[in-house]
Amino acid sequence: MSENKKMILPHKVNEKDFLNAIKEFEKVVGKEWVYKEEEDINLYRDAYSPCWDEPQEPIPSLAVAPKEVEEVQEIVKIANKYKIAIFPISTGKNLGYGSSAPNNRGDVVIDLKRMNKIIEVNDKRNFCILEPGVSYFDLYEYCEKNNLNVMMDMPDPGWGSPVGNSLDHGWGYMYGQYRDHFGAHCGMEVVLPNGELMRTAMGALPGSKTFAENKYGYGPYVDGLFSQSNFGIVTKMGFWMMPKPEHYTLAVLTVPKRDDLIPLVEIMNYLEDSSIIGWPLYRSPLNPEYGKAMNPELKSYLTSKNGKPDIDKIQDYALRNKIPYWKIDIPIYGNKDSVEANVNYIKQRFSKAIDGAEIEVIEDYDLPLTKEQKKSLKHKVTLGIPNLEIFWLSTRGENFAPKDGHVWFSPIIPRDGKELLKCQEIYIDTFHELGMESMITPFSHPRTWMYRAFCFMIGFANSREDKEINEKMRNVYNTMVKVAAKHGWGDYRAGPVFQDAVSGVYNFNDSILKRFAEQLKDTIDPNGIIAPGRGGIWPKRLRGEKND
Ligand SMILES: Cc1cc2nc3c(=O)[nH]c(=O)nc-3n(C[C@H](O)[C@H](O)[C@H](O)COP(=O)(O)OP(=O)(O)OC[C@H]3O[C@@H](n4cnc5c(N)ncnc54)[C@H](O)[C@@H]3O)c2cc1C
Repeated sequence: MSENKKMILPHKVNEKDFLNAIKEFEKVVGKEWVYKEEEDINLYRDAYSPCWDEPQEPIPSLAVAPKEVEEVQEIVKIANKYKIAIFPISTGKNLGYGSSAPNNRGDVVIDLKRMNKIIEVNDKRNFCILEPGVSYFDLYEYCEKNNLNVMMDMPDPGWGSPVGNSLDHGWGYMYGQYRDHFGAHCGMEVVLPNGELMRTAMGALPGSKTFAENKYGYGPYVDGLFSQSNFGIVTKMGFWMMPKPEHYTLAVLTVPKRDDLIPLVEIMNYLEDSSIIGWPLYRSPLNPEYGKAMNPELKSYLTSKNGKPDIDKIQDYALRNKIPYWKIDIPIYGNKDSVEANVNYIKQRFSKAIDGAEIEVIEDYDLPLTKEQKKSLKHKVTLGIPNLEIFWLSTRGENFAPKDGHVWFSPIIPRDGKELLKCQEIYIDTFHELGMESMITPFSHPRTWMYRAFCFMIGFANSREDKEINEKMRNVYNTMVKVAAKHGWGDYRAGPVFQDAVSGVYNFNDSILKRFAEQLKDTIDPNGIIAPGRGGIWPKRLRGEKND
């Protein structure tokens, strides 16, 4: 620790105890794996923090990086001894939802990046078993090197970890059953808050041969308790993987009118839920290309009806300029014949139901892909190829000001065209009432990772320089949470700053879900050491007070 800098302490822990705990952590993992210098600690700040440099910014006091499960168990015991809050991360790349920072200033980050063993990948029964520090890139390289015929569903940035991503209910881009990353996990090993090691489901049977294949074992299914929560540190997880298809096609559907979305979604739902297509990517070509400004005429119609959008003028603009109102990328997997038959079927379904619907095949490949094909593939993640291309759009372009990152507001709405159009209207009205330029337009599209619901997301930009912008943004975010809840929409995921607000609206029957979680927390983590506040669950000793 630098001599003249004031040490950040874990909440309610005195300096003497903290220094003793540091010595004990060092004994367990080795001095080099306990990070206490400011320059190291800074790497664990949330790079996209919505309260950058404010007193409540959750900067950790320390980070500890164990290599083995036994070390994690020892760390947990030390944390109990001194009542130090610890916050586990896998690869800590949760940008937009908190990155690698803990929930509270002073919590000790337990960085599991060194626990990076690929325990098994099986391409006959199509599963893998991984430690938390294994990234999507690591797993992909392993499968390629060993010529394995399976692929892992992944989020857009490939530097995260299947364990960390799935524990925050992350989503991806293949068939629904795989892109629900927590849903695709099977089997878990967890260090509990008292340091005991537990295996769930089939893993509870010593010598079980189906840890990563049969989800339920016998008795209650407890795996869900360890996601978006603070009941343990997960040290191993199994996942179902998708066999590589023989053939892949990307078709693009365009329709001319805004209301075409209603029949379009119904057909798309049918195709998806029948496993005829993979992940449909909805867009509107009325949005400018990333980084480009919107056409000024079109932009003027966004506020030309008493400050709100003139839908008729926007529709007329699209028809006049021959710009399709909606455009959907549709991946289709299978063998050459089945893919061709499915493309024809999809064409028929849409052209029968929607006037002016057009479908064009823009990619059509036999697998394995060549190096060049992999490089030029439009959506690499739909074939399990990890990359970081998404970052060019996240903090740049005309649409983002300031450009220091973003926090995501991610409410779930029904997978229904009418509801989407209603959602646009409600958000536009809300921005209008707040006296702000609306970040939602009548051509904002749904996100379709969730295979039985839409996510209608807003990426709120934050600043590293301007605290006022951040404060305003936090207020708007919190307002949006309430507006959404009033209409029956709730966030699926949120960064630490917003977790209380988000969990607060899941309050059926006097917040019984939260009270149930709190009862569990008090029983299995009486000292409240694991990630206090994560998922809106606070331990008894901190309940009702925020650590700021
Ligand atoms: C431009 C951009 C695009 C993105 N696209 C996607 C996307 O397509 N899909 C998506 O899902 N996300 C996306 N994200 C969000 C995020 O980057 C990914 O979800 C990322 O994989 C999460 O980071 P991670 O895997 O390193 O998990 P971590 O940061 O390690 O973990 C996430 C959280 O889970 C908990 N946790 C982690 N490990 C453990 C453990 N072992 N035990 C107990 N709790 C644990 C912690 O609370 C942690 O904060 C995107 C972000 C950006 C900036």
